[in-house]
Amino acid sequence: MREPHYYTGSGVFFDTHAHIYDRKFSEAGVSASDLLSRASAAGVKRILIPGDSEETSRKAVAMCEDLNGQSGVELFCSVGVHPHEAKDYTDATDEYLRAELEHRKDKRICAIGEIGLDYYYDLSPRDVQQEVFRRQLQMAYELDTPIILHERDATGDCLDILREFAGRGQLRGNPGVCHCCSMSPEAAREIVKLGFYIGFDGPLTFKNNKKGPVLAQETPEDRIVIETDSPYLTPEPNRGLQNEPCFVPYVAQKLAEIRNTDIERIAEITYHNGSKLYEI
Ligand SMILES: [Zn+2]
Repeated sequence: MREPHYYTGSGVFFDTHAHIYDRKFSEAGVSASDLLSRASAAGVKRILIPGDSEETSRKAVAMCEDLNGQSGVELFCSVGVHPHEAKDYTDATDEYLRAELEHRKDKRICAIGEIGLDYYYDLSPRDVQQEVFRRQLQMAYELDTPIILHERDATGDCLDILREFAGRGQLRGNPGVCHCCSMSPEAAREIVKLGFYIGFDGPLTFKNNKKGPVLAQETPEDRIVIETDSPYLTPEPNRGLQNEPCFVPYVAQKLAEIRNTDIERIAEITYHNGSKLYEI
């Protein structure tokens, strides 16, 4: 099997989005301890573990509680229901999320997410996706919590719903992050104007990515965060292998190249931005 490259340069990094509870890791014989020690060795000292269903939100919260501080890595998490799972959202799910969020400070829960719209896969009916997105946005407003936005092929409706909340004064000053942002530069400008951070991942390093570098160049410095979305979206030079938080420096490296600066600078800004985004 191909051996992965590991980053050995300098910089302290914040992987703002990694599903380290994913069963792909245990299936590959990789333990959470392996993930954290390799992350730490690459300079990744903060990781946010996002939920995407009730089940994975519970896993994210538990993992955060059990493993925070291991190998010198600070862990944080989020709870929420992804548009793929929107069809299974019930009043009980709503109650579960609210109950977790009541103790968010103790449990290191920093956001509601992933939430949003995905018209690429359409795994839940679109009207249901919209309703569940609205319910969780309402929750984010009521409980004063940032969101992690997942949006794919649904930019128009997504912006409409966010504008609707903003118009009623129900979008926070720091509304959250547009995770793995694949919006057009025009739409991204608009979402930045609403106060969102923009999340960059592995696809930025892919040779065929035309939109990503434009976004990476145009996004204001104080809005950029980096993420792996592990175990998916592995950046070059490890594309094709399973993604891990320890690969997030390769996203930073690409950003540095595009923005004509050095990786230490990108590490510093994105660490700072990630901490401001999640209010930690
Ligand atoms: Zn994700």
